[in-house]
Amino acid sequence: MTAPGSPGGATVIDGREVARGVRARVAGEVAELVAERGVVPGLATVLVGEDPASEIYVRRKGEACREVGMASFHHPLPADASADEVRALLARLNADPTVHGVLLQLPLPPPLDGDAMTATIDPAKDVDGLTPVNAGLLARGRPGLVPCTPAGVMELLRAAGTELTGARAVVLGRSSLVGRPLAALLLAADATVVHCHSRTRDLPAACREGEVLIAAAGRPRLVTRDMVAEGATVIDVGINRTDEGLVGDVDFEAVRERAGAITPVPGGVGPMTIAMLLANTVEAARAQTPPG
Ligand code: NAD
Repeated sequence: MTAPGSPGGATVIDGREVARGVRARVAGEVAELVAERGVVPGLATVLVGEDPASEIYVRRKGEACREVGMASFHHPLPADASADEVRALLARLNADPTVHGVLLQLPLPPPLDGDAMTATIDPAKDVDGLTPVNAGLLARGRPGLVPCTPAGVMELLRAAGTELTGARAVVLGRSSLVGRPLAALLLAADATVVHCHSRTRDLPAACREGEVLIAAAGRPRLVTRDMVAEGATVIDVGINRTDEGLVGDVDFEAVRERAGAITPVPGGVGPMTIAMLLANTVEAARAQTPPG
């Protein structure tokens, strides 16, 4: 699951390989659903407007679905679509039995309210895990659909063999997309969670407490070598476009000398997000189509 790092350095956790494993598992589950229940899991994507980055993400999601044998339905809406039009489309997808997962690509163009629109998705089809119902279930430690990037981080920690029970886990960032659900997942995995954010005093000292350190702040190379405990597992969620190209929230080259295991950017958390979306969609399809 992991590739050894440089001599004396951290093990580099290979997100592409772990993601391949998840996709292969999902493909098997899709084949099983088709054979046993005659159900082809289907994901509907909704993109409002023409943001180029969002168009790429949505296209990749569709391709990934088809690769594992799932159906994918894409619904573009114009940038000036009204809230009523978006709600009407989501209601139609909620009612469509061939659609088991509904993904509203965020952010929405203003003045549309992404949270309000997301909240109209049927929680059973909320494969992004962002509706208040699924967020509430996660906060309560109950089963539900979990946001894809945090779910991917947990999968990477499992693949790296990181012990979480009783471990001190530090989460950097408190967005509803990444930081908050991650903290809830780590708590559910019996870690002792310290949750840091932009107002945390003495961030380096807090980070050094972490046997597991997860950076999701969206600040290039915020986490430096002196902020990492010897032997810690460091997961870098950050994706920052800089003059030097794509960099994470962690100063990879310096931190890998100190950490026990570390994810690179790119090739760490990034590939996990779509893989977990597929996993959520097949899980949703299974729950919506009980056998017999
Ligand atoms: P966000 O901007 O919504 O949240 C960032 C959080 O980090 C905030 O809670 C803020 O309090 C905290 N923060 C900001 N500066 C800080 C500082 N100096 N010290 C401590 N905390 C600080 O971002 P997000 O949506 O959570 O995304 C975070 C990063 O993860 C971004 O780089 C984003 O591109 C990346 N991301 C990657 C994936 C993926 O698939 N790999 C998915 C989602 C987000």
